[in-house]
Amino acid sequence: MSEWISINNEFVRKEDAKVSIYDRGFLFGDGVFEGIRAYSGNVFKLKEHIERLYDSAKSILLDIPYTREQITQIVVDTLHKNQLNTAYIRIIVSRGVGMGYSLDPFVCHAPQFIVITEAFEAFPSHLYDQGLEIITVPTRRNRSDVLSPQVKSLNYLNNILVKAEAIVAGVNDGLMLNTEGYVVEGTTQNIFAVKNNEIMTPPCYLGALEGITRNSVIELSERLGYITTERTLTRHDLYTADEVFFTGTAAEIIGVIKIDGRLIGDGKPGVKTKLFFEEFKKIVVEDGVKI
Ligand code: PMP
Repeated sequence: MSEWISINNEFVRKEDAKVSIYDRGFLFGDGVFEGIRAYSGNVFKLKEHIERLYDSAKSILLDIPYTREQITQIVVDTLHKNQLNTAYIRIIVSRGVGMGYSLDPFVCHAPQFIVITEAFEAFPSHLYDQGLEIITVPTRRNRSDVLSPQVKSLNYLNNILVKAEAIVAGVNDGLMLNTEGYVVEGTTQNIFAVKNNEIMTPPCYLGALEGITRNSVIELSERLGYITTERTLTRHDLYTADEVFFTGTAAEIIGVIKIDGRLIGDGKPGVKTKLFFEEFKKIVVEDGVKI
């Protein structure tokens, strides 16, 4: 059980960790975040996560009050303080308190920088053996030309609606299409399809977040001698694939075995899904920042 939260680089006990009700993260979802994991003393791809945090913040004109080095240190210190070496880490940067309900972001002079670390499991472990059943949900990915999905903003309503629709339909997760009807991603996972030794994933400009796990899988697959293509995928491509899997910091790599009532492959997590997961488990303890 994690006890200490870092707020503006000071440790506060969990029960005392509070932000103002006028905080714009609460009022408007005005802020950005990252979800990161530490595995046996290695914070996997911390540098990449911090870089993406900076990119998200830049996009919404939010100045992060710490340097990359300071953020690295705050994350490491928070893990130490909580005596965790395997954990889920959440960095939240809210624009802080502004002037009442004014939308003007330039009157906010004290962004709130929060790091939470806790022990964590994504999907229950049996689902990694069994695979996930998903459906295409009615909610479409918000358009990149309106609010870029590359911004990991505190407003995750697009994804929350997808999760809700999947749960209401009685399945594990939802498949999001873009407004043109092409495959984009799951609620908080990128999606891959495997067919005849080809590994495919939608290009990010179609609306998928440039996932750090996604990029690791692309690298991994190439190292293992497969060709990964980033290309437009339709639902038909998924239905007729040999394997489909999701990737994400929380989910890691998990097989998808049923989509809209169609069994994928033989209805079990595929050989490559398992291979990538095994290989991924090796790099998560190596590639990153040691605590
Ligand atoms: N898509 C969305 C919408 C997400 O929120 C996430 C989780 N960050 C992902 C994909 C997977 O990205 P990553 O591998 O960097 O966790």
